[in-house]
Amino acid sequence: MSTLDELSAAGIASADPQLRARFNHDFFNSGASPELVLAPRSLAEAREAIQAAAASGLAVVPRGGGMSYTGGYVAAGQQRFALVDLRGLTAIDLSSADDGIVVVEAGVTWHQLWEVLKARGLRANFWGPLSGLTATVGGGLSQNAIFWGSGQTATAGDAARGFEIALPDGEILRTGVLARSAERTGVRHFGPDLTQLFVGDAGRFGVKLRIALAVMPLPQATGGLSFSFAAPEALLAAMGDIARAGLAAQQVGFDPVLANLRSRRQSLGEDFKTLTRLLRGQGSILKGLRDAAGVTLAGRGFLEGAGFTLHAMCEARSERSLRELLAEVTDIAGRHGGTGIENTIPTVMAAAPFTPLNGVIGPNGERWVPVHGLFQASRAAAAYRNYLDTLDVHREIMERLSISSAALFSAAGPGVIVIEPMFFWPDALEELHRETLEEKVMKRTKPVPANPEARDAVAALRRAVVDAWAPLDPGHLQVGRSYPFAQRLDSTQRRLFEGIAALVDPLGRSNPGALGLECPRGAP
Ligand SMILES: Cc1cc2nc3c(=O)[nH]c(=O)nc-3n(C[C@H](O)[C@H](O)[C@H](O)COP(=O)(O)OP(=O)(O)OC[C@H]3O[C@@H](n4cnc5c(N)ncnc54)[C@H](O)[C@@H]3O)c2cc1C
Repeated sequence: MSTLDELSAAGIASADPQLRARFNHDFFNSGASPELVLAPRSLAEAREAIQAAAASGLAVVPRGGGMSYTGGYVAAGQQRFALVDLRGLTAIDLSSADDGIVVVEAGVTWHQLWEVLKARGLRANFWGPLSGLTATVGGGLSQNAIFWGSGQTATAGDAARGFEIALPDGEILRTGVLARSAERTGVRHFGPDLTQLFVGDAGRFGVKLRIALAVMPLPQATGGLSFSFAAPEALLAAMGDIARAGLAAQQVGFDPVLANLRSRRQSLGEDFKTLTRLLRGQGSILKGLRDAAGVTLAGRGFLEGAGFTLHAMCEARSERSLRELLAEVTDIAGRHGGTGIENTIPTVMAAAPFTPLNGVIGPNGERWVPVHGLFQASRAAAAYRNYLDTLDVHREIMERLSISSAALFSAAGPGVIVIEPMFFWPDALEELHRETLEEKVMKRTKPVPANPEARDAVAALRRAVVDAWAPLDPGHLQVGRSYPFAQRLDSTQRRLFEGIAALVDPLGRSNPGALGLECPRGAP
């Protein structure tokens, strides 16, 4: 085993104060700086670094693209820790592609994976969150991400076929198709499979080094439709019916506040320019998209006054099947009182799925943070109402501190609607924002002073929304250190989860506190 000094000499470990300070916050939470930043460039280096840090008494906190806001890699406690920056692990193994599997190292971004697979006519069954330009596959599986492909393959975890995980003692645990051989993939089905236990674990149960994902051929035909609804119940009922029938590869909906915010965004104007440029490129997929969807590039502002809007993206193996899907979607939307509007949003999104993450601030440079819940489709309208009622209760403080809120809707699989309220407030940006925003956006964003009072109020609002939803029994992704996963376990479940944590991590070194799971008794 290497020592930390040897790892420092090899350029893998660094105690540089500036570097450490870059890793003490996410988009919403901040905490202590790591004592060391470990930046391995190979699987062997990662294993060595994790083992050496844990052996020297440091907790090990994994970080992928860092594109989260639920404190998963922001250590809150007193424990000294090393942060493992996994972005240096970038290999993609296509040798099992003909068997429907790709094996990627944890630091590969969803955008990189999409580009590499596209060249082979393939795509992962779940192919990334909207943050996929920077967010990693390892982070996505540890959050159980949703969006691209979620119509059919609800979450990242549903596309997972196996993991290779480094435990703090340096042992390697392999699951699923990787269980029986490190060199080649095998068949997953052989008794119980441990893979799903590590999906959405926020890195609490170890560091994912390699991930096996299911892949499928790219669709031959794609198209999108947009509709406007007068009331949220109608929009959510239409989304539920479209989801249940499996008609859309992705659905996204905006409440009127979000629709107005989006149309005010400079970046939307830029999206149009990007799309026009892409369409002029006459690439066959994009040309097909333009012809099939009958794209009309509506100007900015077309969403203003459109009420609740739904944007459905469909995919099929032929133009004929696509037309049938689009007709069914139109039929369902019509039955719920939806009227067709320009399909610019789904067209822009599908043409450029991984765009720069300028949405990490609001349209006027405000700070931004979302909260979300996953609901059975039949409870989605009640959940949206609960959210609005919660805003009403906090209206006075929101007005006093200039906090605004808007909601996004999406679907994850056949029966689940995701409601994602977002909060915006005036506050200073963090280093992570400056690293993430495009330079031109950063330049036009006026600096404002830190506003801890508003930030605390937003934290309380997020908690209030989650509490208001509890009677509807929602699910939550991105648990990190924010959602009450451990509190909602019954005593049997808690005993089992704490037992698993104790088995993989007897000394309490593996991202302690994530998932809200306590360290084993007696751990330092
Ligand atoms: C603008 C924007 C849009 C977004 N859109 C979406 C969306 O469409 N869908 C969605 O689901 N989320 C979305 N997110 C949230 C977030 O980006 C995703 O959940 C994403 O998957 C995070 O990946 P990451 O690599 O950045 O993970 P990080 O933020 O680095 O880490 C997230 C968690 O995973 C753990 N972790 C990271 N890598 C590993 C590893 N290799 N092994 C074990 N644990 C690890 C960390 O400790 C932490 O607990 C969005 C965020 C932003 C800022």
